[in-house]
Amino acid sequence: MKAEFSLAKKSQRRTVFPTPDHDHGRCAHDAIAHAEAICAARKERLTPIRHRVLEALLASHQPLGAYELIDRLAVRGARPAPITIYRALDFLREQSLVHRIESRNAFIACVHNHDSHDPVVFLICEQCGAVGEAAAAAVAETIKTASRAAGFTPKTPVIEISGICAHCKAA
Ligand SMILES: [Zn+2]
Ligand SMILES: [Zn+2]
Ligand SMILES: [Zn+2]
Repeated sequence: MKAEFSLAKKSQRRTVFPTPDHDHGRCAHDAIAHAEAICAARKERLTPIRHRVLEALLASHQPLGAYELIDRLAVRGARPAPITIYRALDFLREQSLVHRIESRNAFIACVHNHDSHDPVVFLICEQCGAVGEAAAAAVAETIKTASRAAGFTPKTPVIEISGICAHCKAA
């Protein structure tokens, strides 16, 4: 649990959209180390297939569809069955290591350390395809209030916004 906390502090300093020239190797390496620490702390197994799926998603900050993921994995080994990939994705999502981007029907590796209950807004860049995560506690509160006023019981709000990231805008 201690390791989880220190990693959380470290990743909070990361910007929502890493610069195009950031050290992504380091980014991916840290995310894998974080996943290993999380799984060890929770006594969950980061099996080879789960590890490979996470690694493939960490190739970039762009989301990948399940079949794109299968294609990537097939380059370096046997072609995995879709069910195998979906199971691995389910596990990684349960651990908040991967998120599903509903509007793209795709998945991204989370490079932030947050609880699955922490509300986030997914910011999707239409130009470079990168997905950023911004904290959205106030937005989630507003949605909850509006839903309750309508007599509606909200579950997990999914908030995805398309637009242009700061790096593409500057370019
Ligand atoms: Zn990166
Ligand atoms: Zn996340
Ligand atoms: Zn962009």
